[in-house]
This record gives sequence, C-alpha cells and structure tokens, in this order.
Amino acid sequence: MSKSAAKKIQAIRGMNDLLPSESPRWQFFEAKVRQLMQRYGFDEIRTPIVEQTALFARSIGEVTDIVEKEMYTFDDRNGDSLTLRPEGTASCVRAAMEHGLLHNQTQRLWYQGPMFRHERPQKGRYRQFHQVGVETFGFEGPDIDAEVILLSARLWQELGLSAHVTLEINSLGSAEARAAYRDKLVAYFEQHQDVLDEDSKRRLISNPLRILDSKNPAMADMLNNAPQLMDHLDEESRTHFEQLKAMLDASGIGYVINPRLVRGLDYYCRTVFEWTTTALGSQGTVCAGGRYDGLVEQLGGKTTPAVGFAMGIERLVLLLETLDLVPDEALGGCDVYLLPMDESVTVTALTLAETLRSELPTLRLQLHCGGGSFKSRMKKADKSAASVAILLGEDEIAEQTVTLKFLRDEREQQRVPQAELANQLKDLVSH
Ligand code: ATP
Ligand code: MG
Repeated sequence: MSKSAAKKIQAIRGMNDLLPSESPRWQFFEAKVRQLMQRYGFDEIRTPIVEQTALFARSIGEVTDIVEKEMYTFDDRNGDSLTLRPEGTASCVRAAMEHGLLHNQTQRLWYQGPMFRHERPQKGRYRQFHQVGVETFGFEGPDIDAEVILLSARLWQELGLSAHVTLEINSLGSAEARAAYRDKLVAYFEQHQDVLDEDSKRRLISNPLRILDSKNPAMADMLNNAPQLMDHLDEESRTHFEQLKAMLDASGIGYVINPRLVRGLDYYCRTVFEWTTTALGSQGTVCAGGRYDGLVEQLGGKTTPAVGFAMGIERLVLLLETLDLVPDEALGGCDVYLLPMDESVTVTALTLAETLRSELPTLRLQLHCGGGSFKSRMKKADKSAASVAILLGEDEIAEQTVTLKFLRDEREQQRVPQAELANQLKDLVSH
C-alpha cells in the first residue's frame, strides 16, 4: 500500500464527533428540553437537513452573512441546487405550509438537530453545530413573545444557568418604519465614512442595520451616537414593545434594552431578543430569536404572524460543563458489574443479568463479556463506574447465591441468595 493510501481519514474541520465522555451532558440537556416543551404545550417537528437552496436564499436574505458566505451548497446528481440547512426556521415554515399546518390554526412547534455553516471554527463556533428552536404561528399579540421568552428563562432555571445569562431585547418595528430609519442611518454613516471599517462600508449598501452589530472598538463611539431605531418605531410596534416589557416585568424576568440588537437575518420585525453569557468568551450568545411576521408570506403563504428562537446546544453544553452543573448521576456509567468468574458460568451469568434487568428496570448493569483471567476480569470491574461487582462462580451457582464485592468502599464482601439479590440492589438504584 502506498504511503498516501494509508493516511488516516479525519473528520471534516469544524465538524465534531460527540464522544461517550461528553454525550451524557447532551442527554441531560436534551431531556430537560423535551420535558419543558411538553410542559409548555409545544409539539416537535422534524424536517430534512437538506433543502432546495432557494428556500434559504429567499427567506434568510441574499445579503446576510449566512447566504453570502456560510452555506454548504451543492448540485445533486440531477443538477438541482441543494443546501445543508444553516438554521431551522425556513425549513419549519416550508414544512408547515406544505402540510397545511398554518391553515386556520395556530401552531407552537419545536425542533432540534444539526445545522451547517461554513464559518471559521473556534471555541463555541463550528461548521456543524446543533440547535434547539421553537417557532409559533398565528399569534399576533405580545403574549406569545413573552411566552417563548419565559420558556427559555425556565430552561435556564432548570439547568442552573439563570445567574449566568442576561436577556437583551429590542424592537425592530414594522418593515415600513425600518425602511425610513434605514435611510436616516445611511445618511448618518455617510457622514462618518472615515471611521467605517471595510466590512461596514460593504454593508452600507447591502445591509446597513447590521453595521450596528459591529464589535469593532474603533467604531464604538460613532455607533453609540447613531440614530436609534427605538426612536423611529411605528405606533403599533411601540405599544407591542411596551406590553411585552410589562409582561416580562410582571413575570419577574429581568432584561436589558439593547438598541443596537438588530439580528443578522432579514426576516425579523418588532421583537428581537438574545440571551447572552460572559462565561464563554467571545461566543457569548446562547439563544436568539424574535418575531418574523412577514416570512410566511415571503415564502408564498398567507400573512401569518410568527415568533421563534434558536439556541446553540454546543455553547449551552459548554456552559454546563464549565460551571459544573450536570449532576454526577447524570454523567453516565453503571451501577453494578456482573462478573462470571470463569468460562463455565458464562451462560448462567447472562441469564442472571437478564433476570435482574427485568426486575429492576432502572438498574444500570454491565455484564462482563470477552473472557480473560479472573484478575483481568476484576480489573475491568474496577475500571467500570460500578460501585458493586456481582461475582458468580461454580460455588455460588451450587448454592444459588452470588458474592457482592464493594468496589468503592471498605466493606467486607458478602454472599447473597440470588432470590434476594434484586432487593439488595434496589438501594443502589435510587435514580
Ligand atoms: P453569531 O452572532 O454568534 O454568529 P448568529 O446570529 O449567526 O450568531 P443565529 O443564527 O441567531 O446565530 O443562531 C442562534 C444560535 O445558534 C446562536 O445564538 C448560537 O448560540 C448558535 N450558533 C450559531 N452559529 C453557530 C456556530 N457556527 N457554531 C455553534 N453555535 C452557533
Ligand atoms: Mg453567525
């Protein structure tokens, strides 16, 4: 074999394997999410990870970062342009329209899954990453805006994150109000051409509101003095925003009004919000969303008010890990290790393991497989996370007993009748 043929193939840059040591944290997070969605009456939707490219170009906007430079787009074998989904909202709207879910009814949907963006990989930013999102359809008033924010706030509370995240809100107003504001903003930026960086100069034509998002310190002063969208809201949007604030106040949810929060995507209007943390360095946004009343129509449906958000699972799991918030018992492992002492008892061990699993459905039992000397079997038991090993030899079988050996504390080993074993093990399975 030539040297190059033997070279090991590696994963694609920015796309991660989720290893067994990390997956318990994901499962912990996912279980909380699933429970929460049920408690708020949200239904799960699953859509394909590939869509026609036009779906994203038309919904997210041609001049956004995502569509301009981050999409994984390719021609399939019959020449159609397809794209790996960079976010979930467009697919969700497409599916809801296609199956008539928006026809004379409201919807509260949630989804979870991988998204793909060709960005520069770094901590908290990957090319395949995962989001949990919610999308609601058919609700016009600010109550649903508050409801999805409260849902996210409860998730932080359930995860122990409340003290580590901040809610920022803003209103983008109606499309018309924003267009008028956009003109004022462009005029202001044109007066300050000398401080605009290259990115901003480009955006001045394509997407001037996005300039407000810039983190460039050299532009900070100029941006702070820029005209504010909040002062140019239409009356209805202003009322909507005031009502939302009153609902958050009444619910005890703290927030900061960030007049420069504009979000990267074209389809937002009125309420926008982000949950941010300072515990992750520069990739600090863990959840972002808002209202997108125009999107369904933009994709060919009937005007339908809509509100949603998406959260980045990698960033949240990283936060849980950094702050050590996942309880030990959720971190996987097993409770007991069942160890046949030699080949002759393998079959009995196998059936005993099955009996115990039937009797104690929450018991985490690992059966020793693969033979080996007694010494190497005990080593494996020690290496497992089990606190107890169940030893089974010919003597035990003759007596209808097992030997319990305590792996983690100084305690005499103990012979236990097989008939009483399940009862004895129950205490080990408090979960
Ligand atoms: P950012 O400003 O960090 O690029 P964004 O505005 O592009 O975020 P959204 O499209 O609003 O992000 O996605 C919602 C959430 O998904 C983000 O707040 C973040 O937590 C997560 N997210 C977005 N892009 C990535 C990525 N490349 N890797 C990991 N998580 C991501
Ligand atoms: Mg981005």
